[in-house]
Amino acid sequence: MELRKDPITRSWVITGDDPGEGGPRPESACRFCGDGASQQQVIAVSPNSPGAPWSARSVVHPKPLYHIEGEPGRRGDGIYDRMQSVGAHEVLVENPRHDRHLWNASDEEIGHFLRLAAERILDLKRDRRIKYVSLFKDYGKNAGQEFSHPTSQITATLFVPRRVLYELRAGREYFAAKERCVFCDIIQQEERQAQRVVEARGDYLAVCPYAPRVPYETWILPRNHDASFERAGLNRPGLRMNLAALLRRTLQRVRSVTEDFHLVLHTSPSSLHPSKNLGYWKTIDDDYHWHIEILPVVESKAKSYTFKEVYYSPVSSETAVRHLREAKIEG
Ligand SMILES: [Zn+2]
Ligand SMILES: [Zn+2]
Ligand SMILES: [Zn+2]
Repeated sequence: MELRKDPITRSWVITGDDPGEGGPRPESACRFCGDGASQQQVIAVSPNSPGAPWSARSVVHPKPLYHIEGEPGRRGDGIYDRMQSVGAHEVLVENPRHDRHLWNASDEEIGHFLRLAAERILDLKRDRRIKYVSLFKDYGKNAGQEFSHPTSQITATLFVPRRVLYELRAGREYFAAKERCVFCDIIQQEERQAQRVVEARGDYLAVCPYAPRVPYETWILPRNHDASFERAGLNRPGLRMNLAALLRRTLQRVRSVTEDFHLVLHTSPSSLHPSKNLGYWKTIDDDYHWHIEILPVVESKAKSYTFKEVYYSPVSSETAVRHLREAKIEG
């Protein structure tokens, strides 16, 4: 497998002929709990909770898309760009128990997971080759879930994923024009209008975005400006519990609509990377604002126009937020 860059949109894709591609392998016994757990290549473990050997831990992905060893060998191919898929690919086991998910675990457990995620992102960003670290979760058959155990995944890449790059460029331009963070301005307006706010909890806010890409799309953002999740996640442990609770409650709300969802964390790129032609480093701490995006996968999306890349969401955010607010929440 290798990385190729689309010269028009400038987005990288992973492509190649995968010899092992024959549909998902059936998982007979869970590889992340019970006997299978001891065979994993453990990278990091979060502090033990009482009565458990570990609370959340990071392991090497059994079939990684990116490999830490080797040279990227970035090279031209006529007008094209290609490189080897150098980077890192980890599985974050959210909980030692097979049935404790981010919506039904305790806030302490979710807090352990969030802290581990922050630590892994910080650690991977120390590698100067790495430009961006992604944390994401795909849950449910229609969302491409890979493992039955409660897990998220981390990839560290030598490029910034396209959507994040759009956000970084837009944030920088907005800041250059207004000397304000576009996300802070969104938060202020959403709190003032109170039409699309799902829930506010301590320093965090869950909102349905003004222009959703899919029905019930929901973002979780810190109300106070902060470009980097991993910094906040480590330095202010008290906030972690609020974030854990809001994440848990928001996922419960989303699950009242559909089981399947994608979740992705958007945080600032690595500032250690010595690249000179990326001009957003100078104002990055002021112009970018970390957030979590949750994209539920609902049945009606089958009719969507996404293949034209114009998003079509047959439920407005104003309606979505009413349903999400009314959802029955436990805890
Ligand atoms: Zn399991
Ligand atoms: Zn901000
Ligand atoms: Zn985003």
